[in-house]
Formats: sequence, C-alpha cells, structure tokens
Amino acid sequence: MSIDEAMVSARGVGVRIGAAALLSDVDIDVAPGEWLTVIGPNGAGKSTLLRVLAGLLPAAGEVRIGGTPVTALRRRDRARQIALVAQDPVVPAGMSVFDYALLGRTPYIPPLGVESAADLAAVRDVLARLDLTALTDRELSTLSGGERQRVFLARALAQGARLLLLDEPTSALDIGHQQDVLELVDELRTSGPADEPLTVVATMHDLSVAGEYADRILLLADGRRVALGTPDEVLTEELLATHYRARVRVVAGDHGPLVVPVRRR
Ligand code: ADP
Ligand code: MG
Repeated sequence: MSIDEAMVSARGVGVRIGAAALLSDVDIDVAPGEWLTVIGPNGAGKSTLLRVLAGLLPAAGEVRIGGTPVTALRRRDRARQIALVAQDPVVPAGMSVFDYALLGRTPYIPPLGVESAADLAAVRDVLARLDLTALTDRELSTLSGGERQRVFLARALAQGARLLLLDEPTSALDIGHQQDVLELVDELRTSGPADEPLTVVATMHDLSVAGEYADRILLLADGRRVALGTPDEVLTEELLATHYRARVRVVAGDHGPLVVPVRRR
C-alpha cells in the first residue's frame, strides 16, 4: 500500500518526553475501511500512538490522514475526519447524555450558530443504536462506568468521521454490551459508502476479542513495533510469551485465534 492509498500512514513516528521514549520509529499503513487493533502490555505506547494519529500530540516522523499530514489539518477539518474516544475522557460537570453526544456535531455547527434538525436526529439515532435512549436526559456523572463508556462512543460516532480511533472502548463493558459496541462499529465500517469507508484503529486488552474483529493487529512493546500482521500471525504463544511475559494457549476459533491464559504452576 502506498502512502497515497492509505487512510492512515505513519512513518518513523517517535515521541520522547524528557529522557523517556514513549514511541520509537513506528511505521504503519492502514487501508481505507480496514480495522487495525493495537495491542501490547501496559505502558507499551498504545494510547500515545492513538493521540499522535489524532493529531493531538506532536511527534517526530510523519503522520498522514487520507494523504494529508495530520499537522496540516485545521481543527474543524480534523474533527470531521478523525474521531477519538480517549481511554479516560474528561467529563464536563453537570452535562446530560444528549448534550455530551451533541458535542460530536460541533464541527458541523457554524461558529455562533445552533445545531440543525439533522444534527439532533443524528445524535438521537446514535443514542438509539447504542441502547442509550432511556438515559438521554441523565447527567453523565450519574451513569455507571459502562454506560458512560457507551456515551463516549456515541459522541465519537455522532461526529461522522471516517477515521475512528478507539482507546480501549470496551474495557468497562459487560460481555453483552462489549459485543453490541464492537458489532455496531463493524457494521458501520462495512455498511458505509464504498468510496468513503469507515477505518478503525482500536486498542484492546482482550486478545481473543482483538483477533475476532481486527483485519490486522499491531503489537507494540516499549514503544516499538514488534509485530504487525493478521491475527494468526501476531497472536502466537511465542510472541505473547516474549512481550507480555504471559503463559497462554492459542486455539482456533470461528473468527480467528482465541487466546486462553494458562496458570503458570
Ligand atoms: P499504553 O496505552 O500502552 O498503556 P501509554 O501510551 O499510555 O501506554 O504510555 C506509554 C508510556 O509512556 C508509559 O510508560 C507511560 O508511563 C509513559 N508516559 C505517558 N505520559 C508520560 C509523560 N507525560 N511523561 C513521561 N512518561 C509518560
Ligand atoms: Mg493506554
């Protein structure tokens, strides 16, 4: 894939803070419509990489989104193209679920203007798809962690961006809502317009789930790319033992390899 064909391309991406190298020399290309999941142990640099791809954190090297350097995108254009669900978003005090999701429409609302009927309808639609209609008027601070996580995703989906960056989007969700959310994202990805498909880059700790939804998996360790390939290529007992210091068994599942932890003694 050439840089021009990729939805996301990163070349030699590095982030240093003081003496610490958070990312070193990371190269990736993500095709339009592809789902790439980033895995790696705690502190590997997964959240840092997503923030760099979102244009929120300056980095060495180059990141292009749809062929344009992310640093050259104006704030509004960037928000129309890229939606990031951070691992731990800041929640404005006293805000309702509806108003928070409506923030996703900000890049479409003219400066000093008000939201249109289409903006309101888009938010209602997303809330319904995430099983949040009953919570529309609730204050965010009164929600459970899993409910709040779905509201964060609602805001990102309401944004209508063609690149969705999800940092551990399912970590607080029960297994049913986890499937709801991932199936919805996958449905949006595969049902979108062929000329502007939704591209997904997500981080995830559940390796079996990672393999079920991703086209390819990037394994980061100590800020470096140590493997990039299909779930079968990356989710191997050897790579997971080396980089997670984990003893696992990898078994064949219906939708890719399943990773089962095995007691060490
Ligand atoms: P991950 O999401 O893979 O768990 P992060 O990208 O959040 O990892 O962090 C990568 C590493 O960078 C961690 O070791 C973290 O402690 C470190 N780190 C993050 N922010 C800073 C900072 N402002 N200064 C120094 N180190 C940082
Ligand atoms: Mg993280």
